[in-house]
Amino acid sequence: MIRTGIGYDSHRFVEGRALILGGQQIPWPKGLLGHSDADAVAHALTDALLGAAGAGDIGRLFPDSDPRWEGADSLSLLRLAVARIRARGMEPRQADITVISEGPKVGPYAEAMATALARVLEVDPAMISVKGKSNEGMGWIGRGEGLAVIAVATVEAR
Ligand code: MG
Repeated sequence: MIRTGIGYDSHRFVEGRALILGGQQIPWPKGLLGHSDADAVAHALTDALLGAAGAGDIGRLFPDSDPRWEGADSLSLLRLAVARIRARGMEPRQADITVISEGPKVGPYAEAMATALARVLEVDPAMISVKGKSNEGMGWIGRGEGLAVIAVATVEAR
């Protein structure tokens, strides 16, 4: 049986932090504010996979009140979520991820992100799609206050 889940995440841009998306450090004057490394791509994908598996959500698994996750590498959180999904007899198969940002453009990093995420999910990189969209200058994303990510993922029951 194939199951599908959706994940959403957003983080605010701030000065003085590295910008990490899909496990890649991206040169940009600002980074994302968060308890962990604030990798919104990894967070949205984690929530999509957990949703597909009916295995909770990232906030419940890795609460930002827990000092263990302070500054955490979000790919390691994704890895823990994948282990939880596997323990429920399901296997990650595929994901499609859209980053909505007025900048930076994610296109040049999409392949590296897909490769890094695929390694964690233990799927072929071709099974992970990463796309970028601007918000056409509208609203908080348009003003560059932060960015948002939407992810859809499928898992298969073994
Ligand atoms: Mg997040």
